[in-house]
Amino acid sequence: MESLIKSINSIDGNYIIIFLIAVFYSLEFLLGTPFKFDRRINHFFNNFVFMVAFYLANLAFAVVQVGLINWSTIHQFGLFHWIEVPLWMKVILGVMCLDFTSYWFHRLAHTSPLFWRLHRVHHSDTTMNTSTFFRGHPFEVLVFGTSSIVACIIFGIELQILGVYFIVQLPFLIAQHANIQLPDWTDKIFGKVFITPNIHKVHHDQNQFYTDSNFADIFVFWDKLFGTYKYVSVKSLHYGLKEFDTNKKQTFWYLMISPFMKIDRNIDDKPLLTPDKTPKNKKQRAL
Ligand SMILES: [Zn+2]
Ligand SMILES: [Zn+2]
Repeated sequence: MESLIKSINSIDGNYIIIFLIAVFYSLEFLLGTPFKFDRRINHFFNNFVFMVAFYLANLAFAVVQVGLINWSTIHQFGLFHWIEVPLWMKVILGVMCLDFTSYWFHRLAHTSPLFWRLHRVHHSDTTMNTSTFFRGHPFEVLVFGTSSIVACIIFGIELQILGVYFIVQLPFLIAQHANIQLPDWTDKIFGKVFITPNIHKVHHDQNQFYTDSNFADIFVFWDKLFGTYKYVSVKSLHYGLKEFDTNKKQTFWYLMISPFMKIDRNIDDKPLLTPDKTPKNKKQRAL
């Protein structure tokens, strides 16, 4: 098990990202794009620049991350240092604990007005495809990077297990944004355990009722457990945010400075009426 963890950690995540992007971009072209797609080149360019900015921010923050997590490991701090657990179980539970913490930080990114200013950059994309995975403000690393540190310190997760988590998480995150319409049966089967691409796309709907849902990255049960799971057919979704719904507001520079601008959230919380999940009462709508 130890050698498997070591080999996973020896893989360069950048190669995996390049490989997955190549696969999902090819699939988008081969299978046809189900969602209307204007200005594809501009869209790719803007998201590509975000990829570079996000990469550099992650690189800089990694110094803090590695330092703090190593400190907690040396001082044997955190749950898995205090209880006897076999290594294989530590890996599975470690990945689950990291996903659990990320779920709560993602919820916080939607409820805290300050964090939302950063996180709305990811939600601003009106024409989603594989490259949307990269659209995130570089300062957002302070939110989700902190989430990893908090999880590692509380649960006693070591750096090598964090490395496994990053590798496991990548295919989910890239597939979730790909412009591919998977059949509903994939949600019925895989959606019992995982956040499928269709389930995450609901999170990108303009209607806030759906934007504030499906916060987890890998496991769907956090949303089901804490009442934030919502499902609607992707055919009825309208991506992005109303307040960013013009070409001028989709450029890299506008989005980079947007956290420093007061932009009111354009809320239309009328739920979509579908036979699947029609909200039953006001309490449910207020989630
Ligand atoms: Zn979100
Ligand atoms: Zn997303």
